[in-house]
Amino acid sequence: MTTITHLECSVTGERYEAGKLHNLSTGGWPLLVRYDLQKVKENWNRDWLANGPRSMWRYAPVLPAQKPSSIISLGEGWTPLLRLSRMGSKLGMKELWLKDEGINPTGSFKARGLSCCITMCAELGVKKVAIPSAGNAASAMAAYAAAAGMEAHIFMPKDVPQSNFIECKAFGAHVTLIDGLISDCAKIVGDRKEAEGWFDVSTLKEPYRIEGKKTMGYELAEQMRWNLPDVIFYPTGGGVGIIGMWKAFDEMEKIGWIGSKRPKMIAVQVEGCQPVVRAFEQGAERSEFWQNATTCASGLRVPKPLGDFLILKAVRESGGTAIAVSDDELLDAGVRLAADEGQFIAPEGAACVAALEKLLASGFLKPEEQMVIYNTGSGLKYLEAYSTLYPR
Ligand SMILES: *Cc1c(COP(=O)(O)O)cnc(C)c1O
Repeated sequence: MTTITHLECSVTGERYEAGKLHNLSTGGWPLLVRYDLQKVKENWNRDWLANGPRSMWRYAPVLPAQKPSSIISLGEGWTPLLRLSRMGSKLGMKELWLKDEGINPTGSFKARGLSCCITMCAELGVKKVAIPSAGNAASAMAAYAAAAGMEAHIFMPKDVPQSNFIECKAFGAHVTLIDGLISDCAKIVGDRKEAEGWFDVSTLKEPYRIEGKKTMGYELAEQMRWNLPDVIFYPTGGGVGIIGMWKAFDEMEKIGWIGSKRPKMIAVQVEGCQPVVRAFEQGAERSEFWQNATTCASGLRVPKPLGDFLILKAVRESGGTAIAVSDDELLDAGVRLAADEGQFIAPEGAACVAALEKLLASGFLKPEEQMVIYNTGSGLKYLEAYSTLYPR
């Protein structure tokens, strides 16, 4: 099982004890989980993975759960890496791949983060969890809380996709719809949690969702036979996946599973909410709150990611970039991909397709480079968004 040693503040490096509940560091920054990677290197062989579970828990030695019996799993992770040959050849590309996270439980990759987070909540005795969410994190939390027998309290913007609202209700969660954005929902959870006895599992305000999402990095390496691609496209809201994958690459290099080559990380956002793109272009270390955030790609409607400095650091260190596309461009790219490949992907994933086309056209990327797009959710969760293309 786990080789966790401690947690540390992502800004100051200050140490925190493992086996305890944590939110942010005393300075108000996200905590990162640390492991004894030397021990992992000596005691674990990547060839043994083939016999492991067909879920993200195949990477249990580098995940935080202390006891196998605490794991709350609904079969998350170990998603397919699919070759996009028809679209790839239309774009004149050598190798284009899609990591399809849409088949996860509750139809998005949020399942990875919440499986790990709710597992740790169960292990550490939490009875009630609360979350502000743009939609899919709430669905995933509600599902895993149901499986763990925990009480779930959810705060979402009132225009959240219908799929998210119905799922949360069906999973038995307490759902409150708010006339505002995820940032307004976060404030309500923050104000009420102490009196209500809720554990706050907001993005990056607890340390274990990153650990679940980092398994996307381990999986990609395993599926590509330990050679990372040249380029990764990632639809960036809170940025948990970018931060997690960047951490996974570092861990795998220390374990001796991969070398020092890193993909260019492309943070994809939308024109209606692009705080990370703006900060990247201005050379800033942190982002500024994006006013009047609006987009049909609801997972990208995060006006001020708490981990902005970690996202920006990963993108810059990787030699990647940050780019925004419009809602029209992403919906169009989404249905073109569907017609070419038989894959109906979420608007967030579709934003990556549109970004890829722009970066090929601008010459920032070359068609010979091996590229992977993360499709973070199923198109079926976004019928309202795609309905605008097909009035009937
Ligand atoms: C939450 C979400 C995102 C953004 O994920 P982060 O890792 O927080 O940046 C992207 N796509 C979908 C479908 C989401 O639900």
